[in-house]
Amino acid sequence: MRQRHTHSHTHQRRSHHSLHAQIFGLCKKCGQAVAPHHVCPNCGTYQGREVIDVLKKLSKKEKKEKQKQMAEQEKESKKTDMESLSVK
Ligand SMILES: [Zn+2]
Repeated sequence: MRQRHTHSHTHQRRSHHSLHAQIFGLCKKCGQAVAPHHVCPNCGTYQGREVIDVLKKLSKKEKKEKQKQMAEQEKESKKTDMESLSVK
């Protein structure tokens, strides 16, 4: 021990140690929760632009399922787009 600290000093230091809620945004394409300033791990887009080929590293079987999933998601997003337009 270097020197005895007061309780106050210790508490003041530890006041910065609390954890805060995880901050995240939603992917514009698939609506998944994505860490800010990170490429979406689900569809590989960043700021609505495709950056990485997500299908490349998947096996054939996984590829098919993923493509299916993404097609469905696109359909759904189009549907919601139409709905939001009709509301306005
Ligand atoms: Zn995404």
